[in-house]
Amino acid sequence: MVRPSWVEINLDAIAHNVRLLADIAAPARLCAVVKADAYGHGDVPVAEAALEAGAPLLAVALVEEAIRLREAGIEAPILLLSEPPQQSAGEVITWNLIPTVYTTGFVKALSEAAHQPLPVHLKVDTGMHRVGAAVADAKDLVAAIVADRHLYLEGVWTHFAVAEEDVAFTRKQLDTFNSFVQMLHDVGVEVPIRHAANTAATLLYPEARLDLVRVGIGIYGQRPAPGMVPDLDLRPAMRVVSHVSLVRRLPAGTRPSYGRRKALPVEALVATVPVGYADGLPRALGAHGGDVLIRGKRHPLAGTVTMDQVMVDVGDDPVEVGDEVVLLGSQGSEEVTADQWAEHLDTISYEIVCQIGPRLPRRYLP
Ligand SMILES: *Cc1c(COP(=O)(O)O)cnc(C)c1O
Repeated sequence: MVRPSWVEINLDAIAHNVRLLADIAAPARLCAVVKADAYGHGDVPVAEAALEAGAPLLAVALVEEAIRLREAGIEAPILLLSEPPQQSAGEVITWNLIPTVYTTGFVKALSEAAHQPLPVHLKVDTGMHRVGAAVADAKDLVAAIVADRHLYLEGVWTHFAVAEEDVAFTRKQLDTFNSFVQMLHDVGVEVPIRHAANTAATLLYPEARLDLVRVGIGIYGQRPAPGMVPDLDLRPAMRVVSHVSLVRRLPAGTRPSYGRRKALPVEALVATVPVGYADGLPRALGAHGGDVLIRGKRHPLAGTVTMDQVMVDVGDDPVEVGDEVVLLGSQGSEEVTADQWAEHLDTISYEIVCQIGPRLPRRYLP
């Protein structure tokens, strides 16, 4: 017997979201961003579902993430979203990855490792200030790539810092990017694939869709910001499920769990559920209004989340050992969303789903 706790990943929902977002983005093509184990959903199954639903391209953050996909037999093009260390240039070639470049050192390392024309995508920093070449330096990099017989400038791209919240800044970034592309055109350099939009920009700025959109959070069925585009039929793909392991009746005033932070307002049944912060259930949820679903009803956490277990105040409901508990996702007509957790914890849904940990096995539906 194993612990009755797991993460359910609905691959139909992933496929649905990919098709929905690809339709919105068309004629721009959709690149499915599956970095960080597909935002905690499982990289290989999600990548396969996204490709099957029509995504022509995948993107990851790390060479090692790309290698996992290749080792699973995935042959689709894979874009690396940042430069890896220069020593990884050989692996980029070996594993047939599409590197993003923005330093002369990495361009040189790739050129030395490549034996035949290698497509590269140049990243320009237009305001995110994380990685990318400054516009002033990007021109020289383009010249170096174009002059190199081992490299082929297939793409040029940028990344938005505030696509979900600041129209003026996002427009300015896009203008900077478009001017850069125009400048390349003026000197005779045509780049076939221009891309800029993440999920938020794909939805909010049609003019930012260009040739390709890089969509992450949307394919998992989450909105980039709470309440954004509320009538869009995005379907959350992740459900965190467990089962009641113990039920006891405790008197009013009892303070369950570490720190004895919260007293039961009235006598109640308290259910113990075998999922804890070591599984990615944030410890602070206990003190900040976390609810779970049992028998289709919301119930508050009764005290601090512990490493392996959490307690739930189910009041007078006839909850029994073995009942299904939904920590994240829907049960009947009720739903606990990643946005709700994020609001309690002052973060974003991205962090919530990414930190659902590997100790919980993933079960893929259908
Ligand atoms: C993660 C990432 C994306 C996807 O962003 P979402 O907001 O999840 O759609 C796109 N581009 C880059 C460079 C990223 O790092």
